[in-house]
Amino acid sequence: MGKYYQEEIETASREEILKIQNEKIVKQVKHVYENVPYYRNLMDEKGVKPEDIKSVDDIKKLPFLSKADLRDAYPYGLLGTDLKNCVRIHSTSGTTGRRVVAFYTQHDVDLWEECCARAIVAAGGTKDDVIQVAYGYGLFTGGFGVHGGSQKVGCLTLPMSSGNTERQIQFMMDLGSTILCCTPSYAAFIGESLAEKGYKPTDNKLKAGIFGAEPWTEEMRREIEKSLGIKAYDIYGLTESSGPGVAYECEEQKGMHINEDHFYAEIIDPDTGETLPEGSKGELVFTSLDKEAFPLLRYRTKDICVLTREKCACGRTHIKMCKPMGRSDDMMIIRGVNVFPSQIETVLIKEGYTPNYLIEVDRVKNTDTLDISVELQPGQFSDKVSDIQAKEKALEGAMRTMLGIGPKIHLVPPKSIARSEGKAVRVIDKRKLHD
Ligand code: ADP
Ligand code: ZN
Repeated sequence: MGKYYQEEIETASREEILKIQNEKIVKQVKHVYENVPYYRNLMDEKGVKPEDIKSVDDIKKLPFLSKADLRDAYPYGLLGTDLKNCVRIHSTSGTTGRRVVAFYTQHDVDLWEECCARAIVAAGGTKDDVIQVAYGYGLFTGGFGVHGGSQKVGCLTLPMSSGNTERQIQFMMDLGSTILCCTPSYAAFIGESLAEKGYKPTDNKLKAGIFGAEPWTEEMRREIEKSLGIKAYDIYGLTESSGPGVAYECEEQKGMHINEDHFYAEIIDPDTGETLPEGSKGELVFTSLDKEAFPLLRYRTKDICVLTREKCACGRTHIKMCKPMGRSDDMMIIRGVNVFPSQIETVLIKEGYTPNYLIEVDRVKNTDTLDISVELQPGQFSDKVSDIQAKEKALEGAMRTMLGIGPKIHLVPPKSIARSEGKAVRVIDKRKLHD
């Protein structure tokens, strides 16, 4: 296995990939129309018949599916096969409060694990590696997906699950883990804990990390790479389309290759639903080309991003997505200005702070307020109130330049903001409680 897990498909020409996609979509639409009454109704309402879909160009004729549909159809309404053919259920982590359950046949599990295996090989994984899987195992897709991929590559797989940081570090050191997989916020926490124990970044055997399941900035990537002494790769996925591994980074670390033989990606205007040309920023929509049990067509992810088909030096030909810039429902509108948590994270790290912060939005006397608590590192802490105040003012200024509105900054003592072992909670919007 050299540089690729499945070289032929990962480096296939545009024509070859299109041919595969076109063959698969025709079959898949027929499969869904025949087996998923919920989607058949949506197609009928729109006046689209399976025969109308002859290639991926026709995908734009199909109706969208959204999280609301998944909730309406809960639990079995979007099932594409008999339950007795299914071997697994997973569920979303409920970041946005609504849980979704997804079903898998053995074919679907294999396909998913293959996608994760491609990601692991792209991050330099081989049979000689020890992969520490510190994503949660359970209903969350992170642990099981990467675990399956790791075994497919033939890596020695350490199913740690998330949490118990002491034990993570002990096993990492004693068993010589070479690749760490977890959320970026947990990777940052592990890096911090290692330093506290007196380990230098060169003391561990790690060479790479595969981090995803939540948004993280380039600045955060550099922090993690420095603290663990590794190269950090991004991986993207969602329960609705299987789990992690829908897209993954190669050694170029410039966007994630989407596994196009299994997932067809589009960017749409979130307001009008219109498909946008390549290179435009908009909402990412996925069509699963060959999943059997949970074959979602045109699923709206709410993730805002850009697709590009620029040639990649790694030799892979699959289209790339940029780091998602946050979900459309992560975007905060504060005093009429659009603010993404990622912008705040970028400023913090640039200004020399750690990515331990909490954003609180509220509405006081009809005016939106934005408060950001930011943790100081032991070396930054000072007993002099005037020192702290000066630092707060400076950070407020830097935030105003980036965001266009000024937040109130609260510098808080080291270790006073809770660390995350899974997906970090960065925003508390209290306005939603009043509404
Ligand atoms: P939930 O929607 O409850 O969080 P999932 O665990 O299925 O459920 O999460 C999928 C979502 O996680 C994606 O839609 C995306 O918003 C986010 N996500 C996953 N991987 C990444 C990544 N590498 N970068 C940014 N966001 C990501
Ligand atoms: Zn590449």
